[in-house]
Amino acid sequence: MTLDNIKEEIEKANTIVILTHESPDGDAIGSSLAMYQALKQLGKDVDVVIPDVPKTYEFLPSADEIKQEGRENTVYDLGISLDCTDTIRLVGFEKWYETAKTTISIDHHGTNTMFADYNYVDPASPACAQILIIVLMSMGIEINKDIGKCILAGIITDTGGFRYEGVGAETFEFAANLLRLGVNVSEIYTKVLQNKTRANFELRKAVVNRMEFFEEGKVAFTYITLEDEKKCNAQAGDHEGLVEIGRDLEGVEVSIFLREIPNGFKASLRSNEYVNVAEVCAIFSGGGHIKAAGCTIPYPLEQAKEKILERVRIFIK
Ligand code: 5GP
Ligand code: MN
Repeated sequence: MTLDNIKEEIEKANTIVILTHESPDGDAIGSSLAMYQALKQLGKDVDVVIPDVPKTYEFLPSADEIKQEGRENTVYDLGISLDCTDTIRLVGFEKWYETAKTTISIDHHGTNTMFADYNYVDPASPACAQILIIVLMSMGIEINKDIGKCILAGIITDTGGFRYEGVGAETFEFAANLLRLGVNVSEIYTKVLQNKTRANFELRKAVVNRMEFFEEGKVAFTYITLEDEKKCNAQAGDHEGLVEIGRDLEGVEVSIFLREIPNGFKASLRSNEYVNVAEVCAIFSGGGHIKAAGCTIPYPLEQAKEKILERVRIFIK
């Protein structure tokens, strides 16, 4: 049973490194910080390594203890990957995870490749952070206010504020318990979901202006370039939420958002009802969830656009 294995491996380990996926979002960071604090509670010698943490999450408890790099020439006893589908997306994989004596992966993506020694993957969970409630409880950890805040930030991010499928009674029960503990749920909600940076606003303008529709309005397509990001001095995380602009429009089934990266474009896809966008992205070696997925398309804009549209069209009814 993986939960017992996880508990056992954590008990055995002394030095532990926590890693997560590139372009980390609230679930990646919230989950990592919750696990970090839990392991500290157990007296472990633990590092949480996440380069480029978006400013949005700097308010989370112990965010100031996040490291940019793991230890030099150190083999960690245990590597823990959180919220990450595969080793390509795991930041620091080669340096600190692959080399660790034992590895654990806790995730909620259906396309997880089961790359760790112990994989605890629950695609029914709306956030990796929500899985951590079960994992930490099974380890006898007290989920205090600080750990709770980090978990809640993860849940709020990945459920769009308790809105998406997969949110169940247990999700609300957890939030209710935090309220009883005195956590300001509303404040976390505002900081994580509602507040936008100026750069994000500028990028929104470009995304709206360039929005195009295909397949009788069922497919929305838009993009931003490196130049756009440079112009508004965009920082890590400033592109979050842009793909949702197309998704939320009447009649749209699939929203496609391309973001230029040095070797092509990073695609973010969202669907509303029937298209499995993880399957759409699989052909480009990407993945994610049924209604939210991504991939990298190593081509210039026009070709990248054509390739992704061609693939999406197959699934439109
Ligand atoms: P986003 O569009 O917000 O970047 O990502 C949506 C979902 O797809 C997230 O759960 C994210 O982890 C996953 N995802 C995004 N890009 C990739 C990718 O290139 N490969 C895989 N396997 N998953 C991705
Ligand atoms: Mn997640």
